[in-house]
Amino acid sequence: MIAIDKNKVEIPTSLTDKTRLEAFEENVKKKKHILGDKYRTNEVSKLLNELYNKKCAYCEDTLLNAPKSIEHYRPKNSAKRKNCNSDNSYFWLAFSWDNLLLSCTSCNSSKGSCFDINGQRVTHSDYKEYSLDDLQSTIKDLDKQEKPLLVNPEQVTKSFLRKNLDFDFNGQISSTNKQLEYTIRICNLNRNELVKKRKIIINDLINLIKEKKMRFINHRNTKRYKEDLMDISKTILNKIKKYDQFTAWQKFLIQEFKNIEKQTLLINE
Ligand SMILES: [Zn+2]
Repeated sequence: MIAIDKNKVEIPTSLTDKTRLEAFEENVKKKKHILGDKYRTNEVSKLLNELYNKKCAYCEDTLLNAPKSIEHYRPKNSAKRKNCNSDNSYFWLAFSWDNLLLSCTSCNSSKGSCFDINGQRVTHSDYKEYSLDDLQSTIKDLDKQEKPLLVNPEQVTKSFLRKNLDFDFNGQISSTNKQLEYTIRICNLNRNELVKKRKIIINDLINLIKEKKMRFINHRNTKRYKEDLMDISKTILNKIKKYDQFTAWQKFLIQEFKNIEKQTLLINE
C-alpha cells in the first residue's frame, strides 16, 4: 500500500448528475444499495485509474491487464462475513467520491462488507439533511467519529506507511499497528498469489547479486563489485516507475539491500 493524494483531482461531476441523483434517492428510500454499478461512470474510472496508477489500493498489484473494481471503502451493501464483526450498509455513500477507491477483484471480494470500527457507528439518519453534493467529501468527519480499522490509502501519510508497514524476505507483509494488521487480514494481503509475486521480485534481486558475487570471486576487484551493487540498486529505483506493481515492497528491498546482499550466499566459497 502506498499513500494516495486525492486532492490532485477535482470531484467528478458525473457523481452528482441526474442519473446518480435518482439512484441515490432510490437507495435512501429503500435504505439499501439498489443493485447495479451506476457509480462506475467513465469519468470516475478514468480519474481513479490516474490516481492509483492502475494499481490496487490495498495490495498494489498492477491492474494493467486485470479487471478493476471500484471499491467502496465504507461498504454499500450489508452482508454478514466470517472474518469480521461488521455488517453495516452505507447505502447513502454509494456515490460519494471520497468513498470510492480502485482495487483488484481479489482484495475487493476478500474485504466484502467488512468495516469494523473503534468509535461510534454513523448511520444515514445522522446525515439525512445532507444532499448528494454534500456527501462527496465527508470522510474526515466520518472517520473522526467512527475511527475505522481499515486503512484508507487516501487518508494516511507516506511516513505512517513507511514506519508501520513491514515485510520479510519471504514476501510476507505484516504490521504491529492495529489498523494495518486488520487491513492485511481483511484484504488477505498474504494470499499465495501475492506472496509468490513478491518472491519473484526478491529472487530476481538475489540472482543479480549472486551473478555479481561470482564475478567478484573471479576477479577480486572490490571497487568493481561495489559499483556493480550500486548499479543493481539504481536498476530497482528505475524500475519503481509509477505503473510498476508493489512499490512499497520494492522500496523495502532497497532499504534492506545491504542485509540481502550479506545473506546472499556465495557459490563455491
Ligand atoms: Zn488488491
